[in-house]
Amino acid sequence: MKKSVEELKFPLKGKYLAMLAPSFVVDFPYPKIISQLKNIGFGKIVELTFGAKMINREYHKQLKNSKKLIISSVCPGIVETIKAKYPQYRKNLILVDSPMSATAKICKKTYPSYKIIFISPCNFKKVEALNSPDIDYVICYNELSEIIKKNKFGRIKKDSFDKFYNDYTKIYPLSGGLYKTSHLKNILKQNEAKVIDGISEVEKFLKKPDKKIRFLDVTFCKGGCIGGPSINSKASLTEKKKKVLQYAHFAEKECIPKQEIGLVKRAKNISFKSLYPNK
Ligand code: SF4
Repeated sequence: MKKSVEELKFPLKGKYLAMLAPSFVVDFPYPKIISQLKNIGFGKIVELTFGAKMINREYHKQLKNSKKLIISSVCPGIVETIKAKYPQYRKNLILVDSPMSATAKICKKTYPSYKIIFISPCNFKKVEALNSPDIDYVICYNELSEIIKKNKFGRIKKDSFDKFYNDYTKIYPLSGGLYKTSHLKNILKQNEAKVIDGISEVEKFLKKPDKKIRFLDVTFCKGGCIGGPSINSKASLTEKKKKVLQYAHFAEKECIPKQEIGLVKRAKNISFKSLYPNK
């Protein structure tokens, strides 16, 4: 059983690492959020973008060698819905980690003495984390806002992420982000892949599938993770999307030290296979 967030006392004492999903920009300012997290006791701050890059490689490998329908399993809302209502599709869920679980594996290997906390746009990630032994706690965006409000101390200074930086996967929280960044166009014809956001639309497809489709990139929330239920912002999906894209463009121009870039060799010998969709 994962520990409850209520057990955490802020400012944190000990070694804690925060993993941020790139949808954070919808609710929290960058780079100020990094200083804010450091002020409440996090020693390391890592974004999920490198984990996303590593799982893209797994998707590419599996899709290249498969003819059956493959359904993305990055969204636990989708995984849980299929398990509960459409068990006939369980065999189609790809057995690959989500960016959260993949990044946690990389962080645990690199910073073994740190407890890992995922900062999440939804509560579904708490369910997935029960199956990810490397994650110690999940804090949702609305919970983090409250924690930051209650713990206003320290000097906010400019700061940057610790290690594992990747820029092009910053669009992952947008619907179709996985499909767009995993270079699948080389191995799938245009009419063999389908991106669907919003659970009602996904269910429509599952009830009446198009047999041509070999890959389904699906998210429970409308718009992808920027539509997550634990996001505070009441902005429209268009405005939220704009923020993510602005952040991605900004990141392309950032001068990131070489040693902090997420290179494949830094995840050497880590398996990104996941049993979660089958549990
Ligand atoms: S699409 Fe929604 S339910 Fe799925 S992981 Fe993202 S925020 Fe969570």
